Amino acid sequence: MKIGCHISVGKGLEHAARRAVELGAESFQVFTKNPRGLKPKKLDREDAAKGVAVMQEHEITLVCHTPYITNLSTPKPDLQEVTIRSILEDLNIAEAYGAVGAVVHCGKHVGEGEEYGTRRMVETLDLILEQYDGPVKLLLENTAGQGSELGLTIPSLMEIRGATRYPEKIGFCFDTCHSFAAGQWSLETFEQLVEQMKSSGYLEHLVAIHFNDSKAPFASQKDRHEKIGKGEIGSEALAKFLTADSFEHLPVVLETPVDDEQEYAEEIVYLHQLRQAGQLS
Ligand SMILES: [Zn+2]
Ligand SMILES: [Zn+2]
Repeated sequence: MKIGCHISVGKGLEHAARRAVELGAESFQVFTKNPRGLKPKKLDREDAAKGVAVMQEHEITLVCHTPYITNLSTPKPDLQEVTIRSILEDLNIAEAYGAVGAVVHCGKHVGEGEEYGTRRMVETLDLILEQYDGPVKLLLENTAGQGSELGLTIPSLMEIRGATRYPEKIGFCFDTCHSFAAGQWSLETFEQLVEQMKSSGYLEHLVAIHFNDSKAPFASQKDRHEKIGKGEIGSEALAKFLTADSFEHLPVVLETPVDDEQEYAEEIVYLHQLRQAGQLS
């Protein structure tokens, strides 16, 4: 298991990778570009290559995250076009960064209904993936179900992947906070969640875990991250992820709220402690 955290890439990938080393992170996540915009980003290939070298030297795994504001289900043709162009660019940046995948949030049906939203999301995914043949997987992240978000459940995510023409180019990123807020798991139902991941085939395509506690209660459908052990999920339930064999090979990335990235160093140590305690018991 590679425990790490989200890190700012504002000063370049090399800087972010060195930061990961300082924080004791064995994996990390960066945004491909400004998360609140879709403005194209000029890729600094030299910086990317230096960053990749640091990651290789320290055996660090990178996950990329695409901007939040893309909506794969948008009914508007002009917005869909911008989204396709933006995510294609994200995949190419993620490839230059040597990332295992580029995380994208599931679509929002914005009042058009779930059926329409799902169909439109599959269509947009196809239009993106027919233009990308590189090694980076597009990782669908499960949502908390805020507003009209799609993709709360394991079966719905598998259905979307299966409906595209390029399922082999799609993997998954599982967010512990979103899934809890969507009412999909808790301390009592962790084993059922893992069983569902296995029996549906989801687990085979799971590439990364977003590891967050939740400020909002179970099934609240609110996406509010909290530090591990300080939220509604709790450390006992979250520790189960850290010791489950099924997730042993995956990067586990913290996206918990911090005032300063430096705080992640302590939280990463805490995760290792939880993991050890769990393995002993
Ligand atoms: Zn997440
Ligand atoms: Zn979230």
